Amino acid sequence: MIFLKLSHMKAIQPLQFSYTGCITKLLIIACIFTANHVAAQTVIEKIVQEETKNSQLQVLAHELLDGIGPRLVGTPQMKKANDWAVEKYASWGINARNEQWGEWKGWERGITHIDMLSPRVKSLEGTQLSWSPSTKGKAVKAEIVMIPDVADSIAFQNWLPTVKGKFVMISMNQPTGRPDDNWQQFATKESFEKFKKERTELTDAWRKRISKTGYSTRMLPIVLEKAGALGILTNNWSNGFGVDKIFNAYTTKIPTVDIALEDYGTLYRLVEAGDNPIISIQTDSKDLGIVPNFNTIAEIKGTEKPDEYVMLSAHFDSWDAGQGATDNGTGTLTMMEAMRILKLVYPNPKRTILVGHWGSEEQGLNGSRAFVEDHPEVVEKLQALFNQDNGTGRIVNISGQGFKYAGEFITRWLAAVPSSMKDSIKTTFPGTPGGGGSDYASFVAVGAPGFSLGALNWSYFNYTWHTNRDTYDKIIFDDLRNNAMLTAMLVYMACEDNATFPRDKVDLGTNKLTGQPIAWPAQGKAMRKGPIAPTN
Ligand SMILES: [Zn+2]
Repeated sequence: MIFLKLSHMKAIQPLQFSYTGCITKLLIIACIFTANHVAAQTVIEKIVQEETKNSQLQVLAHELLDGIGPRLVGTPQMKKANDWAVEKYASWGINARNEQWGEWKGWERGITHIDMLSPRVKSLEGTQLSWSPSTKGKAVKAEIVMIPDVADSIAFQNWLPTVKGKFVMISMNQPTGRPDDNWQQFATKESFEKFKKERTELTDAWRKRISKTGYSTRMLPIVLEKAGALGILTNNWSNGFGVDKIFNAYTTKIPTVDIALEDYGTLYRLVEAGDNPIISIQTDSKDLGIVPNFNTIAEIKGTEKPDEYVMLSAHFDSWDAGQGATDNGTGTLTMMEAMRILKLVYPNPKRTILVGHWGSEEQGLNGSRAFVEDHPEVVEKLQALFNQDNGTGRIVNISGQGFKYAGEFITRWLAAVPSSMKDSIKTTFPGTPGGGGSDYASFVAVGAPGFSLGALNWSYFNYTWHTNRDTYDKIIFDDLRNNAMLTAMLVYMACEDNATFPRDKVDLGTNKLTGQPIAWPAQGKAMRKGPIAPTN
């Protein structure tokens, strides 16, 4: 509010100073202040009203997550989502476009069937990793071996030919499928301590076992494939009940699958006991060659300062074993819903409002980095960017990212937000610049004001982040409604601000270990074509 008074003082400077002039001056200040305040309150109230009475979040979530599904870079589903968003924006009267940022290996996930045939029959829970090769329409049946505990890389080379015609287990057998908080709740203190010690020993032993092969965990599947293995079995447990993280395969001819901890453990113990389990695997997928990939950009043109920008930001892509619901369907929906509301209640913004739905964040912020490289005119005149990308929770953290005056500006923008929403937000000013983690960092790296709207955890890291359980049912819609309103309000306030966000940076101090000054994060280059095969 201080800002409103000050800026209007400037506007009426030419008035002569006199007693009557002074009164007039005060009246004008009072009138303008009140008018602006009323206008702001009206827009804020309208934002609350629209979201409360007419939220589209559930409809959007259903269409995107159930209808289209996950959005791995290079898949037809990613492109379908890009086109869906453009259509959605058009239906709200908002101009939107897909901008190509690069190209990627095109791939479409098909079915995965993994069955144990011996010593008993059981369908196993598991799925192929992203970009896994297919088994060409048939099920492959074979015995299993595991990476042996060899003396050194020479011994491993001697063992290697034995994988021919077999599936190979390359992950450790987790000693528990229970999350730590469950142990904490029920185990005796001694039992939990003992268990943790054993688990650390097992984990270290497995790491040594892998390292003695002479290969990294990324190269090992490629080496095994070359040696004639029929498939790679992994388990990437995510430290919660029934959750695995599912990333990309490195094999190019044979399938790589993740098998859920429970079933992986069963197979592991059977192999170890010499029971010679036999399983069959069928992975269907389509290799679609190299395909173009896009960011979806939508725009509400500014009226007074159309070449200045306030941006909403959330990556659109995801990993693909779940639905990409909380990473980052929820950020995507928050930004779409905020745009929909802004178009209704604030159709003629002072500055231009842009939203960036980025591609390939998961492989290194590629879509947003490309946008920064391709749109210097936006980056140069960016007033603020608000990015959301850490799950479904309500926004509780905002950092000034090391911009000297961030506190002054963000506090002013938050001042319009109802206390029920803003009181639980912890602000850190001036904060330190984020070097990565999500797309705001692409902007911060070039000194442009990108901010992260940090959400409440909701067990994000163990249960939904990059997991096979990142699904619609995990969304907390009340929190999402809060976030859509908050984003719309911050965007509105940043648009209306008479002052331009100054890019002065704070002194980051010196590194205690090296004594060198701490540098601002460096700009990362967008990878415009991928993926790149590992070489070590
Ligand atoms: Zn994400």
